[in-house]
Amino acid sequence: MPLLTIVVPAYNESSVLAAFHQRVMATLDTLSLEACLLYVDDGSSDDTWEQIEALCADPRVGALRLSRNFGKEAALTAGLDAVTEGAAVVIDADLQDPPELIAELVAQWQAGYDVVYATRSARAGETRLKRFTAAAFYRSMEAMSETPLPRDTGDFRLLSRRALDALGQLRERQRFMKGLFTWIGFRQTAVSYQREPRRAGHSKWNYWRLTQLAIEGITSFSTAPLRLATWVGLGAAAFAFVYGLWVMLKALLWGDPVRGYPTLMVVILFLGGVQLLALGVIGEYLGRNYAESKQRPLYFIAERRGARGR
Ligand code: UDP
Ligand code: MG
Repeated sequence: MPLLTIVVPAYNESSVLAAFHQRVMATLDTLSLEACLLYVDDGSSDDTWEQIEALCADPRVGALRLSRNFGKEAALTAGLDAVTEGAAVVIDADLQDPPELIAELVAQWQAGYDVVYATRSARAGETRLKRFTAAAFYRSMEAMSETPLPRDTGDFRLLSRRALDALGQLRERQRFMKGLFTWIGFRQTAVSYQREPRRAGHSKWNYWRLTQLAIEGITSFSTAPLRLATWVGLGAAAFAFVYGLWVMLKALLWGDPVRGYPTLMVVILFLGGVQLLALGVIGEYLGRNYAESKQRPLYFIAERRGARGR
């Protein structure tokens, strides 16, 4: 029987954990596969861990406890790293992702997909501002990055064995999981659902953390901001050179009424232009160095055929 592990990051979720556990377990019972649950306590300060420990009495439940709060991306990584066999589903503990949908994710997985993500068709309980900023983020990511993110998709998804193996090879420290899930490729598909408001407790994402996450997403999947420096530098340098030439020409033709002005202007503009260009050049190398330092694998192989393909 195929094995499926449900990975649940939990940070101060004591108020919803029991309800969540009950709903997931009910769903797992309906699946015709061997399924287990792995909680990752991300350094909770309430009694989340004690509750998880109690749930571990069930042999299908396992748990990890991080030494402190490392953030959801790290908690997810820890959980997914621990899944050494079979596929995994990532789901939030706050019941915003309906556990019942796991059955649909599994159906797509069994139909041959490697990454099955759940796309929200509604964002109930979220303010207009949150919806607007989320939309703006997805649009700008699409424009700037070579890894387009599927819109309105959180971390709720299923990853097949080979998708997990691929993900495990991405060891970069700035982890924007949504992007990494997409970057690995393989056959991906979406299942849509209605996102419910958080059942209890409160979101750990305030605007400050969301902005940080957005910046992380943009900077780890795009060097467009560095490119911008190159183009602004190039434009400013070109303008400076042309204007410098014009000031010099004017001085040669009509003399130098304000003594020293043309030479000063030419020197300032020339140096300014050169500096901006040099910054752009540094930016280009920095961008390459950055891509290099992420040490991402160059490719993943999806299929092999024939004796020579081994
Ligand atoms: N979470 C975590 N570590 C954190 C923050 C959140 O493991 O530092 C977990 C949290 O327990 C929940 C999931 O990540 O299971 C999503 O968090 P939240 O509901 O606060 O985010 P939102 O749904 O508002 O995006
Ligand atoms: Mg939530």
